[in-house]
Amino acid sequence: MSQQTVREFQLLRRPVGLPMESDLAIVSRHLPALAAGQVRVRNLFLSVDPYMRGRMSEAKSYTASYDLNAPMSGGAVGRVEESSHPDLAPGDTVLSMNGWRDGFVSDAKELRKLDVSMAPPQAFLGTLGMPGLTAYVGLFDVGSLVEGETVLVSGAAGAVGMVVCQIAKAKGCRVIGTAGSDEKGAWLRENAGVEVAINYKTTASLRKAIAGAAPDGIDLTFENVGGDHLEAALACSKTHGRVAICGLISQYNATEAGPGLRNVREILTRRLTVRGFIIFDHFQRQPDFVRDMTSWIQAGKMKWTETIVDGFERMPAAFLGLFSGANLGKMVVRVG
Ligand code: NDP
Repeated sequence: MSQQTVREFQLLRRPVGLPMESDLAIVSRHLPALAAGQVRVRNLFLSVDPYMRGRMSEAKSYTASYDLNAPMSGGAVGRVEESSHPDLAPGDTVLSMNGWRDGFVSDAKELRKLDVSMAPPQAFLGTLGMPGLTAYVGLFDVGSLVEGETVLVSGAAGAVGMVVCQIAKAKGCRVIGTAGSDEKGAWLRENAGVEVAINYKTTASLRKAIAGAAPDGIDLTFENVGGDHLEAALACSKTHGRVAICGLISQYNATEAGPGLRNVREILTRRLTVRGFIIFDHFQRQPDFVRDMTSWIQAGKMKWTETIVDGFERMPAAFLGLFSGANLGKMVVRVG
């Protein structure tokens, strides 16, 4: 075999506020020859996710910080090109955490072989992957979803949000979603069973818009955004309502702590249950998720779309696009 060269992104400095493309750099390196049990993979699609912003900072969190001047990692779907393991053959499609690079050598046991007869490979980074599982666990295990409830989903047109809306709909719930454009709202109403889609960028009052859409109040909020969205959700919750805190993307680039929730008293007076969760604690639910997701897809109850950015070198731009709402559905980079 001739020596293979791959490109990988490295973090050069820790961003303050919104990251800049120049905080990252592409570095080339040669791959080693395969040892027994290893495979060489060429990545096809790379995931960019909001949690990666946390990994760029030094602050202690639930995932390790990216090291400076070292390969970054993240979700990736790739194709096996060379194998010295009996379970993987050239041409197989695999899921890995070896993202932010266009190829790699790995022990085969670190990879998951994908059945791409059911969905295109990039769906395993979105609806059929970690974001889909997050929606599932957040609704059922954290939010204790009950059929027929009124559910509020913030960040509804993103990778997690659009799955949340459709699972809730499949359970006979009335779904209200927030998103950052009318185009996203239209997609949610036409495809995801969302009854009322609120454009939070143009509405005069998020709280009034939610209250108008749910005059009897919200049973369960699936919170992806935080800040004013969370305040509005608390204020519009029913007595004994529940809030599953999945993400707080409006705060990920903050350079100092905000003023805090101004209406925390709503948690007391409405006797709310507010519970955060991290998907890493729930991977044991993967088989249940696959079973249920397969049946929703086969029943035509689960639709999705992706925003595909072409070109490995556009990875930083795709990542930054998450914070300006450039994506409808899962944001992925096609390596090309
Ligand atoms: P998305 O596909 O939803 O992309 C991010 C979206 O967030 C953007 O498209 C944008 O949509 C919205 N957004 C960005 N900045 C703001 C802002 N300041 N105010 C309001 N909306 C904003 O990402 P994911 O589906 O991957 O993630 C959604 C949330 O779930 C994130 O908070 C993420 O951290 C969290 N998450 C948590 C996990 C867990 O284990 N708890 C696992 C996976 C994700 P718009 O146009 O509507 O503004």
